[in-house]
Amino acid sequence: MKRFDALAVLAELTRDVPVVVTCAASSRELAAIADRPNHLYLLDSMGLAGSVATGLALRLGDAPLPRVVAIEGDGSLLMNPNVLATAGYLRPRKLLMVLLDNGVYGATANLPTHAGRLDLGRMAAAAGWTTRVTATADELCDAWTELEGIEGPVLLHVRIEPGNATDIPKLLEDPVILGRRFQDWLLTHAGATR
Ligand SMILES: [Mg+2]
Repeated sequence: MKRFDALAVLAELTRDVPVVVTCAASSRELAAIADRPNHLYLLDSMGLAGSVATGLALRLGDAPLPRVVAIEGDGSLLMNPNVLATAGYLRPRKLLMVLLDNGVYGATANLPTHAGRLDLGRMAAAAGWTTRVTATADELCDAWTELEGIEGPVLLHVRIEPGNATDIPKLLEDPVILGRRFQDWLLTHAGATR
């Protein structure tokens, strides 16, 4: 399973919850599969999907939403591993981070990340996260169901193969527009206030 395949599964599973997704190929591929207003694409903000989702999950603790989802890559999480400690300490109960771990930086010619030697799932578990490891689309769906109702922070560690999807258009929308669209979705669906 490559990133695109995992994102196609996740797009179906996250139709009704806020999704904060890391930059570059992850955002582009998700937008190519389904560009929805519940998606916040963190264009050029590498390493911050988990942090933004942590803040949202804390703020939306009483909102009528079951989850706040972050989609991270291994290289991106390694840029800001502090989020594992922060969320492990603050324990936002709706936070679910999906880690798409292919062991490489997909945006820079598949250079290896430290994830080849470091187990990011075990790092999260050491910080107090509930974790599951999956490697196929079926396992991903099963783990998603199994984790329903389990309080966060939860890390779904998805082992994927390296490789970007081809012919994916660049995501050139103004981030201000994307942010406002996401804000409006939250106002409608989460009872959030500005
Ligand atoms: Mg990667």
